[in-house]
Amino acid sequence: MLKSLHKRHSELAKSKRQVEILSNGIFQSGDLPKFKDKIAESNQFPLKANKLEILQINVGYMCNQVCAHCHVDAGPDRKEIMTKETMLQCLDVIKKTEAHTLDLTGGAPEMNPNFRWFVEEASKAGIKDFIVRSNLTIIRANKKYHDLPEFFKKHNVHVVSSMPHWTKGKTDKQRGNGVFDKSIQALKDLNAIGYGLPGSDLRLDLVYNPSGAFLPGNQMALEKDFKKALLDDFDIQFHNLFAITNLPISRFLDYLIASENYEDYMYSLVEAYNPEAVKNVMCTNTISVSWDGYLYDCDFNQMLNLPVKSKAKHISEYNSELLEGRSIVISQHCYGCTAGAGSSCQGNVT
Ligand code: SF4
Ligand code: SF4
Repeated sequence: MLKSLHKRHSELAKSKRQVEILSNGIFQSGDLPKFKDKIAESNQFPLKANKLEILQINVGYMCNQVCAHCHVDAGPDRKEIMTKETMLQCLDVIKKTEAHTLDLTGGAPEMNPNFRWFVEEASKAGIKDFIVRSNLTIIRANKKYHDLPEFFKKHNVHVVSSMPHWTKGKTDKQRGNGVFDKSIQALKDLNAIGYGLPGSDLRLDLVYNPSGAFLPGNQMALEKDFKKALLDDFDIQFHNLFAITNLPISRFLDYLIASENYEDYMYSLVEAYNPEAVKNVMCTNTISVSWDGYLYDCDFNQMLNLPVKSKAKHISEYNSELLEGRSIVISQHCYGCTAGAGSSCQGNVT
Protein backbone atom coordinates (compact mmCIF):
# COMPACT_ATOMS: atom_id res chain seq x y z
CA MET A 1 0.00 0.00 0.00
CA LEU A 2 1.20 3.51 -0.85
CA LYS A 3 2.10 5.63 2.19
CA SER A 4 0.94 9.18 2.85
CA LEU A 5 3.48 11.99 2.40
CA HIS A 6 3.33 12.45 6.19
CA LYS A 7 4.20 8.82 6.83
CA ARG A 8 7.05 9.02 4.30
CA HIS A 9 8.34 12.23 5.99
CA SER A 10 8.33 13.79 2.54
CA GLU A 11 9.20 17.50 2.35
CA LEU A 12 5.88 17.91 0.49
CA ALA A 13 4.02 16.92 3.65
CA LYS A 14 4.68 20.55 4.60
CA SER A 15 2.16 22.86 2.94
CA LYS A 16 4.72 25.71 3.03
CA ARG A 17 7.02 23.73 0.72
CA GLN A 18 4.16 23.13 -1.72
CA VAL A 19 3.31 26.83 -1.80
CA GLU A 20 7.00 27.63 -2.43
CA ILE A 21 7.12 25.24 -5.40
CA LEU A 22 3.93 26.75 -6.84
CA SER A 23 5.25 30.30 -6.42
CA ASN A 24 8.78 29.84 -7.75
CA GLY A 25 10.40 28.19 -10.79
CA ILE A 26 8.55 28.81 -14.07
CA PHE A 27 6.22 31.30 -12.38
CA GLN A 28 9.01 33.26 -10.71
CA SER A 29 11.05 33.45 -13.93
CA GLY A 30 8.03 34.73 -15.86
CA ASP A 31 7.95 31.76 -18.26
CA LEU A 32 4.34 31.32 -17.17
CA PRO A 33 2.04 34.06 -15.82
CA LYS A 34 0.98 33.91 -12.19
CA PHE A 35 -2.72 33.17 -11.68
CA LYS A 36 -3.21 36.60 -10.16
CA ASP A 37 -1.91 38.31 -13.34
CA LYS A 38 -3.87 35.98 -15.61
CA ILE A 39 -7.22 36.77 -13.99
CA ALA A 40 -6.32 40.47 -13.90
CA GLU A 41 -6.27 40.40 -17.73
CA SER A 42 -10.07 40.01 -17.63
CA ASN A 43 -10.52 42.33 -14.62
CA GLN A 44 -11.30 39.45 -12.28
CA PHE A 45 -8.62 40.25 -9.70
CA PRO A 46 -9.11 40.32 -6.78
CA LEU A 47 -11.41 37.33 -6.82
CA LYS A 48 -14.23 38.02 -4.34
CA ALA A 49 -16.48 35.74 -2.32
CA ASN A 50 -20.21 36.18 -2.79
CA LYS A 51 -23.03 35.01 -0.52
CA LEU A 52 -22.42 31.65 1.13
CA GLU A 53 -24.28 28.83 -0.61
CA ILE A 54 -22.19 25.78 0.25
CA LEU A 55 -20.67 24.86 3.58
CA GLN A 56 -18.03 22.19 3.05
CA ILE A 57 -16.84 20.49 6.22
CA ASN A 58 -13.78 18.26 6.35
CA VAL A 59 -14.42 15.98 9.33
CA GLY A 60 -10.96 14.41 9.29
CA TYR A 61 -8.05 13.22 7.21
CA MET A 62 -8.25 9.55 8.20
CA CYS A 63 -9.06 7.23 5.31
CA ASN A 64 -9.11 3.50 4.60
CA GLN A 65 -7.46 4.20 1.23
CA VAL A 66 -4.22 5.88 0.15
CA CYS A 67 -4.96 7.02 -3.42
CA ALA A 68 -2.07 8.15 -5.58
CA HIS A 69 -3.61 11.53 -6.45
CA CYS A 70 -5.09 12.46 -3.05
CA HIS A 71 -5.00 16.22 -2.43
CA VAL A 72 -5.67 15.67 1.29
CA ASP A 73 -2.73 13.29 1.78
CA ALA A 74 -5.26 11.13 3.59
CA GLY A 75 -4.68 7.61 4.82
CA PRO A 76 -5.03 5.23 7.77
CA ASP A 77 -2.09 6.95 9.51
CA ARG A 78 -3.73 10.40 9.59
CA LYS A 79 -5.18 11.09 13.02
CA GLU A 80 -6.69 14.55 12.48
CA ILE A 81 -10.37 14.12 13.35
CA MET A 82 -13.06 16.76 14.00
CA THR A 83 -14.30 16.69 17.60
CA LYS A 84 -17.92 16.81 18.69
CA GLU A 85 -17.28 20.28 20.11
CA THR A 86 -16.24 21.61 16.69
CA MET A 87 -19.19 19.80 15.11
CA LEU A 88 -21.52 21.61 17.51
CA GLN A 89 -19.98 24.92 16.39
CA CYS A 90 -20.58 23.88 12.76
CA LEU A 91 -24.22 23.01 13.58
CA ASP A 92 -24.74 26.51 14.98
CA VAL A 93 -23.51 27.99 11.70
CA ILE A 94 -25.58 25.55 9.58
CA LYS A 95 -28.67 26.74 11.44
CA LYS A 96 -27.95 30.45 11.10
CA THR A 97 -26.73 30.71 7.49
CA GLU A 98 -28.88 30.39 4.41
CA ALA A 99 -26.47 27.93 2.79
CA HIS A 100 -28.50 25.47 0.71
CA THR A 101 -25.79 22.80 0.51
CA LEU A 102 -23.88 20.99 3.19
CA ASP A 103 -20.96 18.97 1.90
CA LEU A 104 -19.18 16.51 4.22
CA THR A 105 -15.76 15.38 3.13
CA GLY A 106 -12.53 13.84 4.48
CA GLY A 107 -10.53 11.47 4.35
CA ALA A 108 -13.34 9.01 4.62
CA PRO A 109 -15.90 11.10 6.55
CA GLU A 110 -17.66 7.95 7.75
CA MET A 111 -14.57 7.05 9.83
CA ASN A 112 -15.12 9.97 12.19
CA PRO A 113 -16.64 8.34 15.30
CA ASN A 114 -19.27 11.12 15.51
CA PHE A 115 -20.14 11.01 11.80
CA ARG A 116 -23.61 9.47 12.21
CA TRP A 117 -24.54 11.74 15.08
CA PHE A 118 -23.44 14.76 13.04
CA VAL A 119 -25.44 13.68 9.97
CA GLU A 120 -28.54 13.13 12.12
CA GLU A 121 -28.22 16.57 13.71
CA ALA A 122 -27.32 18.39 10.49
CA SER A 123 -30.15 16.79 8.52
CA LYS A 124 -32.63 18.38 10.95
CA ALA A 125 -31.40 21.84 9.89
CA GLY A 126 -33.40 21.75 6.63
CA ILE A 127 -30.49 21.84 4.20
CA LYS A 128 -31.66 21.33 0.60
CA ASP A 129 -28.72 19.29 -0.68
CA PHE A 130 -26.84 17.22 1.89
CA ILE A 131 -23.75 15.74 0.24
CA VAL A 132 -21.50 13.05 1.70
CA ARG A 133 -18.34 12.31 -0.26
CA SER A 134 -18.06 8.59 0.21
CA ASN A 135 -15.15 6.70 -1.27
CA LEU A 136 -17.48 3.66 -1.66
CA THR A 137 -15.00 1.08 -0.37
CA ILE A 138 -15.67 2.20 3.21
CA ILE A 139 -19.14 0.64 2.85
CA ARG A 140 -17.50 -2.77 2.32
CA ALA A 141 -14.43 -2.20 4.53
CA ASN A 142 -15.91 -3.45 7.80
CA LYS A 143 -19.21 -4.92 8.99
CA LYS A 144 -19.93 -1.78 11.01
CA TYR A 145 -20.19 0.21 7.77
CA HIS A 146 -22.34 -2.27 5.79
CA ASP A 147 -25.58 -0.45 6.70
CA LEU A 148 -24.32 2.95 5.50
CA PRO A 149 -26.50 2.88 2.35
CA GLU A 150 -29.62 2.51 4.54
CA PHE A 151 -28.35 5.25 6.84
CA PHE A 152 -27.77 7.56 3.87
CA LYS A 153 -31.25 6.80 2.58
CA LYS A 154 -32.85 7.56 5.94
CA HIS A 155 -31.33 11.05 5.92
CA ASN A 156 -31.76 11.63 2.19
CA VAL A 157 -28.01 12.06 1.77
CA HIS A 158 -26.70 12.82 -1.71
CA VAL A 159 -23.81 10.42 -2.27
CA VAL A 160 -20.88 11.67 -4.38
CA SER A 161 -18.13 9.14 -5.00
CA SER A 162 -14.90 8.89 -6.89
CA MET A 163 -14.62 6.38 -9.70
CA PRO A 164 -11.57 7.03 -11.88
CA HIS A 165 -12.49 4.39 -14.47
CA TRP A 166 -14.92 1.62 -15.37
CA THR A 167 -12.08 -0.91 -15.57
CA LYS A 168 -10.37 -2.63 -12.67
CA GLY A 169 -6.82 -1.97 -13.89
CA LYS A 170 -7.09 1.82 -14.17
CA THR A 171 -9.10 2.21 -10.96
CA ASP A 172 -6.81 0.05 -8.83
CA LYS A 173 -3.72 1.77 -10.24
CA GLN A 174 -4.92 5.12 -8.92
CA ARG A 175 -6.78 4.04 -5.77
CA GLY A 176 -5.12 0.80 -4.65
CA ASN A 177 -5.50 -2.94 -5.15
CA GLY A 178 -8.98 -4.29 -4.60
CA VAL A 179 -10.64 -0.85 -4.70
CA PHE A 180 -12.49 -1.50 -7.96
CA ASP A 181 -14.20 -4.72 -6.80
CA LYS A 182 -15.24 -3.18 -3.48
CA SER A 183 -16.50 -0.02 -5.23
CA ILE A 184 -18.61 -2.10 -7.63
CA GLN A 185 -20.11 -4.01 -4.71
CA ALA A 186 -20.86 -0.75 -2.87
CA LEU A 187 -22.50 0.73 -5.97
CA LYS A 188 -24.67 -2.39 -6.23
CA ASP A 189 -25.64 -1.99 -2.56
CA LEU A 190 -26.62 1.62 -3.23
CA ASN A 191 -28.59 0.74 -6.39
CA ALA A 192 -30.38 -2.04 -4.50
CA ILE A 193 -32.07 0.48 -2.20
CA GLY A 194 -32.84 2.97 -4.96
CA TYR A 195 -29.72 5.18 -5.16
CA GLY A 196 -28.77 6.28 -8.66
CA LEU A 197 -31.80 4.83 -10.42
CA PRO A 198 -33.51 6.89 -13.14
CA GLY A 199 -36.13 9.15 -11.59
CA SER A 200 -35.01 8.34 -8.03
CA ASP A 201 -34.63 11.19 -5.53
CA LEU A 202 -31.76 9.29 -3.91
CA ARG A 203 -28.88 11.00 -5.70
CA LEU A 204 -25.76 9.06 -6.59
CA ASP A 205 -23.12 10.92 -8.61
CA LEU A 206 -19.64 9.80 -9.59
CA VAL A 207 -16.47 11.84 -9.92
CA TYR A 208 -13.86 11.10 -12.55
CA ASN A 209 -10.34 12.47 -12.37
CA PRO A 210 -7.49 11.57 -14.71
CA SER A 211 -5.01 8.96 -13.56
CA GLY A 212 -1.95 10.72 -15.00
CA ALA A 213 -0.48 14.10 -15.94
CA PHE A 214 -3.25 15.04 -18.34
CA LEU A 215 -6.49 17.01 -18.24
CA PRO A 216 -9.93 15.36 -18.29
CA GLY A 217 -11.80 14.93 -21.54
CA ASN A 218 -15.32 16.13 -22.27
CA GLN A 219 -17.57 15.55 -19.25
CA MET A 220 -20.67 14.60 -21.25
CA ALA A 221 -18.81 12.09 -23.40
CA LEU A 222 -17.16 10.56 -20.32
CA GLU A 223 -20.52 10.27 -18.56
CA LYS A 224 -21.96 8.44 -21.57
CA ASP A 225 -19.03 6.00 -21.65
CA PHE A 226 -19.17 5.38 -17.89
CA LYS A 227 -22.93 4.82 -17.94
CA LYS A 228 -22.75 2.34 -20.79
CA ALA A 229 -19.80 0.38 -19.38
CA LEU A 230 -21.13 0.16 -15.80
CA LEU A 231 -24.60 -0.84 -17.00
CA ASP A 232 -23.38 -3.41 -19.56
CA ASP A 233 -20.73 -4.97 -17.33
CA PHE A 234 -22.26 -4.74 -13.86
CA ASP A 235 -25.88 -3.61 -14.20
CA ILE A 236 -24.99 -0.46 -12.22
CA GLN A 237 -26.69 2.93 -12.65
CA PHE A 238 -25.88 6.40 -11.37
CA HIS A 239 -27.08 9.94 -12.04
CA ASN A 240 -24.28 12.30 -13.09
CA LEU A 241 -20.57 12.09 -13.68
CA PHE A 242 -18.39 15.08 -12.81
CA ALA A 243 -15.04 15.28 -14.57
CA ILE A 244 -12.52 17.16 -12.48
CA THR A 245 -8.95 18.28 -13.04
CA ASN A 246 -6.28 17.15 -10.60
CA LEU A 247 -4.83 20.18 -8.81
CA PRO A 248 -1.04 20.26 -8.51
CA ILE A 249 -0.91 19.90 -4.75
CA SER A 250 -0.08 17.21 -2.18
CA ARG A 251 0.28 13.66 -3.53
CA PHE A 252 -0.54 14.69 -7.11
CA LEU A 253 2.19 17.34 -6.94
CA ASP A 254 4.54 14.68 -5.58
CA TYR A 255 3.64 12.42 -8.51
CA LEU A 256 4.16 15.26 -11.03
CA ILE A 257 7.59 16.06 -9.64
CA ALA A 258 8.70 12.43 -9.31
CA SER A 259 7.60 11.64 -12.87
CA GLU A 260 9.20 14.87 -14.20
CA ASN A 261 5.85 16.08 -15.47
CA TYR A 262 5.39 19.12 -13.22
CA GLU A 263 6.37 21.84 -15.71
CA ASP A 264 4.54 20.25 -18.65
CA TYR A 265 1.43 19.87 -16.54
CA MET A 266 1.53 23.52 -15.46
CA TYR A 267 1.97 24.56 -19.11
CA SER A 268 -1.13 22.47 -20.01
CA LEU A 269 -3.16 24.07 -17.23
CA VAL A 270 -2.16 27.60 -18.27
CA GLU A 271 -2.79 26.81 -21.93
CA ALA A 272 -6.27 25.51 -21.08
CA TYR A 273 -7.06 28.60 -18.95
CA ASN A 274 -10.58 29.81 -19.59
CA PRO A 275 -11.47 33.26 -18.20
CA GLU A 276 -15.17 32.33 -18.27
CA ALA A 277 -14.51 29.49 -15.82
CA VAL A 278 -13.23 31.99 -13.22
CA LYS A 279 -16.80 33.14 -12.61
CA ASN A 280 -17.82 29.68 -11.46
CA VAL A 281 -14.94 28.61 -9.22
CA MET A 282 -16.31 27.10 -6.04
CA CYS A 283 -14.57 29.48 -3.64
CA THR A 284 -16.94 32.28 -4.68
CA ASN A 285 -19.89 30.66 -2.90
CA THR A 286 -18.27 28.14 -0.52
CA ILE A 287 -16.54 28.07 2.84
CA SER A 288 -14.37 25.11 3.72
CA VAL A 289 -14.05 24.16 7.40
CA SER A 290 -11.08 22.08 8.52
CA TRP A 291 -11.16 19.25 11.08
CA ASP A 292 -10.02 21.74 13.75
CA GLY A 293 -12.61 24.36 12.76
CA TYR A 294 -10.51 26.84 10.78
CA LEU A 295 -11.98 28.51 7.70
CA TYR A 296 -10.61 28.35 4.16
CA ASP A 297 -11.82 29.46 0.73
CA CYS A 298 -11.79 25.83 -0.47
CA ASP A 299 -10.56 22.37 0.47
CA PHE A 300 -7.41 22.90 -1.64
CA ASN A 301 -6.47 26.07 0.21
CA GLN A 302 -7.10 24.14 3.43
CA MET A 303 -4.49 21.58 2.42
CA LEU A 304 -2.05 24.36 1.51
CA ASN A 305 -2.76 26.03 4.85
CA LEU A 306 -3.87 29.25 3.17
CA PRO A 307 -6.60 30.53 5.54
CA VAL A 308 -9.37 32.97 4.64
CA LYS A 309 -8.45 36.62 4.48
CA SER A 310 -10.92 37.74 7.14
CA LYS A 311 -11.06 38.63 10.80
CA ALA A 312 -13.34 35.60 11.23
CA LYS A 313 -10.87 32.76 11.01
CA HIS A 314 -12.61 29.96 12.92
CA ILE A 315 -16.09 28.43 12.72
CA SER A 316 -16.71 29.67 16.27
CA GLU A 317 -16.21 33.23 14.93
CA TYR A 318 -18.36 32.77 11.82
CA ASN A 319 -19.76 36.08 10.68
CA SER A 320 -21.43 36.53 7.30
CA GLU A 321 -20.67 40.23 7.16
CA LEU A 322 -16.96 39.65 7.69
CA LEU A 323 -16.75 36.72 5.29
CA GLU A 324 -18.92 37.78 2.36
CA GLY A 325 -17.03 39.99 -0.03
CA ARG A 326 -13.63 38.81 1.24
CA SER A 327 -10.76 38.58 -1.25
CA ILE A 328 -10.06 34.96 -2.05
CA VAL A 329 -6.54 33.67 -1.44
CA ILE A 330 -5.16 32.39 -4.74
CA SER A 331 -2.00 30.82 -6.07
CA GLN A 332 -0.92 28.86 -9.13
CA HIS A 333 -2.87 25.71 -8.09
CA CYS A 334 -6.00 27.72 -8.97
CA TYR A 335 -5.23 27.12 -12.68
CA GLY A 336 -6.65 23.63 -12.01
CA CYS A 337 -10.09 25.17 -11.43
CA THR A 338 -10.11 27.26 -14.60
CA ALA A 339 -8.84 24.79 -17.21
CA GLY A 340 -11.28 24.14 -20.06
CA ALA A 341 -14.87 24.22 -18.89
CA GLY A 342 -13.67 24.32 -15.26
CA SER A 343 -14.11 21.62 -12.65
CA SER A 344 -17.63 20.99 -11.44
CA CYS A 345 -18.92 19.40 -8.25
CA GLN A 346 -16.84 21.63 -5.96
CA GLY A 347 -13.72 20.19 -7.53
CA ASN A 348 -13.24 17.65 -4.82
CA VAL A 349 -12.67 13.93 -4.67
CA THR A 350 -12.71 11.45 -1.89
S1 SF4 B 1 -8.14 26.33 -5.84
FE1 SF4 B 1 -9.62 27.11 -4.40
S2 SF4 B 1 -9.15 29.30 -4.25
FE2 SF4 B 1 -8.22 28.56 -6.12
S3 SF4 B 1 -9.75 28.95 -7.73
FE3 SF4 B 1 -9.98 26.82 -7.01
S4 SF4 B 1 -11.58 26.96 -5.49
FE4 SF4 B 1 -10.78 29.05 -5.77
S1 SF4 C 1 -8.69 10.45 -2.56
FE1 SF4 C 1 -10.35 10.13 -1.10
S2 SF4 C 1 -10.43 7.90 -0.84
FE2 SF4 C 1 -8.46 8.37 -1.73
S3 SF4 C 1 -7.03 8.61 -0.01
FE3 SF4 C 1 -7.82 10.64 -0.49
S4 SF4 C 1 -9.57 10.95 0.83
FE4 SF4 C 1 -9.13 8.73 0.80
